[in-house]
Amino acid sequence: MPIVLVTGGSRGIGAAVCRLAARDGWDVSVNYTSDASAAAEVVAAVEAAGRRAVAIKADVSDPAEVELLFEETEKALGPIDGLVNSAGITGLVSPLAEARAETIARTMDINVNGTLYCCREAARRMSARGGAIVNLSSAAANLGSPGEFVWYAASKGAVDSLTIGLSKELGPQGIRVNAVAPGLIETDIHASAGAPERVARLVPLVPLGRSGSAEETAEPIVWLLSPAASYVTGSVIRVAGGR
Ligand code: NAP
Repeated sequence: MPIVLVTGGSRGIGAAVCRLAARDGWDVSVNYTSDASAAAEVVAAVEAAGRRAVAIKADVSDPAEVELLFEETEKALGPIDGLVNSAGITGLVSPLAEARAETIARTMDINVNGTLYCCREAARRMSARGGAIVNLSSAAANLGSPGEFVWYAASKGAVDSLTIGLSKELGPQGIRVNAVAPGLIETDIHASAGAPERVARLVPLVPLGRSGSAEETAEPIVWLLSPAASYVTGSVIRVAGGR
């Protein structure tokens, strides 16, 4: 059975990916960094679907922890066929002029460096047998998020660039690399940004007239992981209700 590692698999979009991947026959390594009980719930859901699962604590912004995350995943489940980089933060909403340097640095460290460290580890380990990587970008990469978190938008622009570059680098080894760029999705991320009202405030700007769910975002991600997407690489698929 194929094995997928999902960073930030304990909550939000990552947790939905774990559940849908299990539905589709994947064994799942659920990475988290602080919320062990949320990760345990996801593991239980994967097992209830008849697949194997393990929860592994690791901070993706630390390259040594990323190496251990991949090692422990292999030990517990076997060599991975898929990687979904869902771990990500925005930092507290503010105009750039008022943002703390720590907020900007931490966002870049997790969203950009963390994605690069995980992709690097996957490239090393998948090269013998091929595989699929899906990165979490954001509609923010094109919208720019003025007044909210332009540093976050910039981090997702970097995710788009590394997705395109890596797809070209790894294509000859049979490793596909794509990204999904969600719009306004109902998860904890907005409250963590200090703006729990954000979804309600921005919904009028969405052509489909509503926010999206984590499951609606996870569906194209598990499709990109699957052999049904065998000729798709280097793509950034917008899942943003038309925004
Ligand atoms: P979320 O509900 O806040 O969940 C974030 C997940 O990332 C949690 O599982 C968290 O683990 C994990 N995480 C945070 N920092 C980490 C680190 N340093 N190392 C490992 N894991 C870490 O977020 P979400 O809304 O699902 O977002 C998932 C991805 O989609 C992010 O990359 C985000 O930028 C992107 N995205 C989201 C939206 C949206 O509207 N929700 C829109 C566009 C893009 P713990 O549970 O242990 O804290």
